[in-house]
Amino acid sequence: MIYIHVPFCRSYCTYCDFYSEIPCSNREGADFQCYTCSLLSEIEARRSEISATLGMNTLYIGGGTPSALPLENLKQIADALKCFGPYREFTIEVNPEDIVDKGDAYVEALRAIGVTRFSMGVQSLDDKMLSWMNRRHNAAGARKAFGLLKGERSVDIITGVPDMSIEILEKTVDEVIGWRPEHISAYQLSIEEGSALEKMIEDGKTDEAPEEECRKHYEFLCTSLKTAGYHHYEISNWSLPGHEALHNSAYWKRVPYVGLGPGAHSLRIGEDGTQIRSWNSKQISGWSVKGSEILSEQEIREETIMLGFRTDKGVSGSLLEGRDCSLLEALPNGNYRIPENRLFVADDIISDLI
Ligand code: SF4
Repeated sequence: MIYIHVPFCRSYCTYCDFYSEIPCSNREGADFQCYTCSLLSEIEARRSEISATLGMNTLYIGGGTPSALPLENLKQIADALKCFGPYREFTIEVNPEDIVDKGDAYVEALRAIGVTRFSMGVQSLDDKMLSWMNRRHNAAGARKAFGLLKGERSVDIITGVPDMSIEILEKTVDEVIGWRPEHISAYQLSIEEGSALEKMIEDGKTDEAPEEECRKHYEFLCTSLKTAGYHHYEISNWSLPGHEALHNSAYWKRVPYVGLGPGAHSLRIGEDGTQIRSWNSKQISGWSVKGSEILSEQEIREETIMLGFRTDKGVSGSLLEGRDCSLLEALPNGNYRIPENRLFVADDIISDLI
């Protein structure tokens, strides 16, 4: 199970705190190539670690904006990882403006290097909301881009944006449902440290959306996506039956993985059976492992509970002995999960249980 972080974006979105750099137009080709060379060196250096995590056989290229990278660089990366395949799922994150600019041939070329699944950040189909988010595409661009994608398609949308009325959200969700993507992720806007949004709030330029409005957004999503036949398998993720994301589902089960690229995290099992998390430094080339920690039994248990309760598979009853499970739903296999009508307050329920 391999994750690759591509640290480039063409602009910064209001809410984002992911590590990325805006390439300088006069030397972006050199930056892309330096990044790619560093990544190829890291793949070479971590071959045995990669081989040890291939049980799931998934590859995920995320960012940043992977579709900002030229095709030649993506081909070099896919070629270097070919020997670990074939992959059951090969996802790449794309932005609508890149798909529209680069066109059908780009999508075909990505399919030819093995991509099976596209994850596209649409976020909203309301131009005013998109402009507030500082996204580079508009609604028309997102529609056009979706029409060009082939294979498995996942669409990201954002809820809980200040001034996003329920009517605005309904319009976006209804239209996206009409596209019938195999997968939909819907994340509630959160205020991340270091994001432009954090500064806007500090400066009094905007306010968080009221909690009641956010709850309405979430309840609307749950109802409309269920009616449209989507399986709500994780707190923020829905899929048509049989199209659940394999890679992300494995994260929620705490399957070991290798994260390559600047800022990427990894989880591996040590020779003595301990679980080790490590993370890379953040720079566009020449990054290295910046730190690592051995997870304690208690940390492993808490992560298992936190991640398990995000999903409809829930958590084994054996991890909850002596806890008050009255707000949970008991499943026939002995697991407990948070019922859908309480998922909006999942964080509170989980922190009480932990
Ligand atoms: S949301 Fe995506 S495109 Fe926007 S700044 Fe963050 S990583 Fe870049």
